[in-house]
Amino acid sequence: MKKVHLKRKIANRIANGHPWIFANEVEKIEGDPDPGSIVDIFFADGKFAGRGYINQQSQIMVRLLTRDKKALIDDTFFENKIRQCWQYRRQLGYTENCRLVFGEADDLPQLIIDKFNDYFVIQTLALGIDFWKPAIVNALKVIFNPKGIYERNDVPVRELEGLLQQKEFLSAPFDTNIIINENGLKFHVDLKNGQKTGYFLDQQDNRKAICNIVKGADVLGAFTYTGTFEIHAAHYGAKSVLGLDISENAVAQANKNAVLNKLDHIVHFEAANAFDALKQWSSEGKRYDVVMLDPPSFTKSRANIDKAIAGYKEINLRGMKLIKPGGFLVTSSCTNLVHSEMFLQIIDSAAKDARRKLRQVTYQSQSADHPIIWGMENTQYLKFLIAEVI
Ligand code: SAH
Repeated sequence: MKKVHLKRKIANRIANGHPWIFANEVEKIEGDPDPGSIVDIFFADGKFAGRGYINQQSQIMVRLLTRDKKALIDDTFFENKIRQCWQYRRQLGYTENCRLVFGEADDLPQLIIDKFNDYFVIQTLALGIDFWKPAIVNALKVIFNPKGIYERNDVPVRELEGLLQQKEFLSAPFDTNIIINENGLKFHVDLKNGQKTGYFLDQQDNRKAICNIVKGADVLGAFTYTGTFEIHAAHYGAKSVLGLDISENAVAQANKNAVLNKLDHIVHFEAANAFDALKQWSSEGKRYDVVMLDPPSFTKSRANIDKAIAGYKEINLRGMKLIKPGGFLVTSSCTNLVHSEMFLQIIDSAAKDARRKLRQVTYQSQSADHPIIWGMENTQYLKFLIAEVI
């Protein structure tokens, strides 16, 4: 067996259950393991720390798959794991669509599987998990008998692991434009060319949270992508809804979704840069009962954190200025590096500059199919706030 021995003086992170082992925590590698292969990890005192996959080229040199010395890492291991993931989601009430596997939070580091009813989208973002792709695909076939499996590995982070970016069918080819159901509504999803895995399942519980505040309201949504929040608003009884996205494709898809749900007399979408539109409309004196903001991640690197903070402040400040007194702001942030406390501080500072008072309605995170593991910072990334703007 190939072995990795840890240094004596390392942080407690690994002992406390975190699955990552950084290159600078490794004292010695025994047996010359192939990159991507399975290794056993030992603490400096010789105790077994776990079993995982190694990539000597990556700064995160090992990611643990198990701490059970008896566990064999083979095809059955992955099938059992995926069964457990599905069992957990079902227990939480997910039936059709869910993030079936959320990487580290499911003890399957760097593996993402989104389930869209009978269709599955996979990402394998590290060399060691990419190796097991055939086993994972086979497990999905055995457990779900799916209508289609698609690989969305067009993700730059793969290059850090020496992997190519790629997207392709992992089952017999099928029509990758599908329709999913969510909260009683229908949405077109483009598994092949949509953003990320095609659809943002992490907001599915948050979309329900706007149910009461949009009744009879004039609603503005910005960063709408395929219009999910806006179509929910129309469905929940908004008087009018306008959605903005910079992508013409997203806007076309969003308008198609409005028609699909027979809500196109209430909601429509336009292509615009939200930064410009919010600024211009607030100075023109336009006002809405509800403004919803769901921008993309503003930075993936700590070096650009100030730019991200400025971006959040700008759109939230502009958004608040557009809200009638007693209206509501619905605002999200998916930037991992902008943690919860920082996000709330930004909103607070925007409110002060806008001379508005906020009364919090709800503050939550991503939906429960994206589990948050305490002590594993990266697993909590989504911030979602609804506040009355007085
Ligand atoms: N609310 C959506 C997800 C939004 S993803 C959902 O629940 O599905 C973020 C979106 O912001 C993307 O569709 C992207 O095209 C859009 N976007 C990025 N920069 C923008 C800008 N400056 N103005 C408007 N939209 C922008």
